[in-house]
Amino acid sequence: MTGPANADADDNPLERDTAAPLETDVFVVGAGPVGLLLAGELRTAGARVTLLEQLTEPTTESRASTLHARTMELLAARGLLERLGPPPPGGPGHFGGIPLDLTAADPGHPHAGQWKCPQATLERVLGEWSRELGARLLRGHRVVGLTQRAGHVEVTVARSDGTLIHGRAAYLVGCDGEGSAVRRLAGFTLAGQDASREMLRADVAGIDIPNRRFERHPRGMATAARWPDGTTRVMVHLHGQRPVPRSRPPGFDEVVAAWATVTGEDIGHGTPVWLNAFDDTSRQVTRYRRGRVLLAGDAAHRQMPVGGQALNLGLQDAADLGAKLAGRVLGRAGEDVLDSYHASRHPVGARTLTNIRAQALLLLGGPEVEPLRSTIGALMGNAAVHRHLARMISGLESAPPAGAAVAPTPTQPHLTPERNIVGRLDSRTALVTGSSRGIGRAIAIRLAAEGALVAVHYATNVDAADETVALIEKDGGRAFPVQAELGVPGDVHQLFQALEQGLKERTGEASLDILVNNAGATTPEGQLPEDVTVEEFDRLFAINARAPFFITQRALGILSTGGRIINISSGLTRLANPEQVAYSMTKGAIEQLSLHLARHLAPRQITVNSVAPGITDNGGPVFDIPAAVEQMAQLSAFKRVGKAEDVADVVTFLATDDARWITGAFIDATGGTLLG
Ligand code: NAP
Repeated sequence: MTGPANADADDNPLERDTAAPLETDVFVVGAGPVGLLLAGELRTAGARVTLLEQLTEPTTESRASTLHARTMELLAARGLLERLGPPPPGGPGHFGGIPLDLTAADPGHPHAGQWKCPQATLERVLGEWSRELGARLLRGHRVVGLTQRAGHVEVTVARSDGTLIHGRAAYLVGCDGEGSAVRRLAGFTLAGQDASREMLRADVAGIDIPNRRFERHPRGMATAARWPDGTTRVMVHLHGQRPVPRSRPPGFDEVVAAWATVTGEDIGHGTPVWLNAFDDTSRQVTRYRRGRVLLAGDAAHRQMPVGGQALNLGLQDAADLGAKLAGRVLGRAGEDVLDSYHASRHPVGARTLTNIRAQALLLLGGPEVEPLRSTIGALMGNAAVHRHLARMISGLESAPPAGAAVAPTPTQPHLTPERNIVGRLDSRTALVTGSSRGIGRAIAIRLAAEGALVAVHYATNVDAADETVALIEKDGGRAFPVQAELGVPGDVHQLFQALEQGLKERTGEASLDILVNNAGATTPEGQLPEDVTVEEFDRLFAINARAPFFITQRALGILSTGGRIINISSGLTRLANPEQVAYSMTKGAIEQLSLHLARHLAPRQITVNSVAPGITDNGGPVFDIPAAVEQMAQLSAFKRVGKAEDVADVVTFLATDDARWITGAFIDATGGTLLG
């Protein structure tokens, strides 16, 4: 980044005030954790930023105090964890009050679990950080007017001394919380559900009651936890009590009465230090961007603060938006980068709101939710389910592709044992030809591990195909075998009959997302060009070139938008080996298929690429002969023969959304054999 662009005439731009009209690249409205992180992100990338905050002093309240693994990653990457302390562990997690071990999300993750950090501490550290980076914070500045013009946004700001000032910026981001003025002034639509349940909270000094966690009573639910300073945080919900509109916190008498009703204990002799009420309102703006105005954090989504997800969701919004907005402001990115913020964060917000609604029901529901609680509790005994929920809450879940359905359809059973059920290819379908053995088997296993339902194709070796399917299912994946000998009349038709039937049975429709043309035959060892017969030549072409062409042609009818075609070629198209001339010609042909179809299918967002393995251990007998292996190993720059997984990982990458920008390419997966 460049120097602190806003720290022009003042060593201490934070807290500084000015009477001059405000002008900057980006106004960030709201200096809570989300706004402060965003400001730091924007400054890091080099954009000028001014924070407008209506409070004249930082808050001392600790509304949110839990950080999850993904947020910890973000903070660590910015060097902020060291500044924070680092935070102490936050104890066990929960899902709707049912114990959930958040470390199950990824036991190897350096920040697996949850971590305690009072909001006031987080704000102080983020404030210092953004200040050092050159962000300007104007306290006592409340945005009361907002107009979008061609090329900029104008704001009217009421200052705490009663004066009005005006300002302009290229963009404005509302990080001003659930009551967001920006959201209202810019005309965002906040869609969703009103509250039906309420929870009262208080920090109370001078009481001595036992700690308890989500204790369910006939009349309600109660939680108590002693802070290190001796005060006790109590939370209480009364079954059947509808939330009342509140313009101020509840009275202590209300909390005392509810606590007594639910637990039978009297805490009326205590002294309230902090009082608060929250409800299960669940709303989200329909777009995160309107022209030059964007929203992040609670301004974009209102949810019950269960399990600390709201703060984490907001911080992750800011982290996603910062670099994108700076890129746009500095002319490095087009307008579409701002829409990509909506595309990436709106689905994450929607899914989080859904899980929070589910948790609110489990947590605050009366006796009628007991059967649901015991069913969900039993399901959570399943390691894959436990891990799925832990990943979701930890923010480690991968986002679905933009526009994808938020919830799996009933025909896509996702809860299979042990598999990472939030893989990069969840709910995709794949056909891997020749996946009974060798490289094809490794590809099938890798795609399934990422969540794809895989059709395991083979010619004759039914036992090997069944073994591939069994290996996938053992790890909780989904696969089914399809038989068809390729290179013979009717081959493609037979293959697609079995494929489409298998897909329909398992997903309800015959739709394919990923096609890997892997099956192949080779020339016999040591055969000179002079000895190749017409029959052998035709057979090689029929299996290695003609079949992939017509498989691809047939697949086009069922291939989804954004689909993937990956053709397995060979390093021999770039390395002379006269004994393999006919075989290499077939691989040259399949590379042509990739090149030309890539252009043809780009309008459907389908990518087509060739992957070229070098010598790869496919389990064949030659790989059991050490001297032969040693000799073959010398061809690779890494001095070893390839493993089938080396190639499978490359293919899997091409199948994911991460490879959306690669098409028509020849990918060298020879371990450097072609380097010479
Ligand atoms: P492999 O171990 O020999 O396995 C071949 C697979 O293709 C098997 O699943 C086999 O099914 C199937 N297959 C063979 N002929 C078929 C036919 N006529 N109809 C239908 N299916 C047929 O293969 P691999 O070594 O893993 O090679 C996979 C791909 O990588 C091939 O395209 C190959 O050209 C390419 N490649 C391999 C290497 C290498 O060193 N291994 C190097 C460069 C390129 P059955 O089990 O039923 O026979």
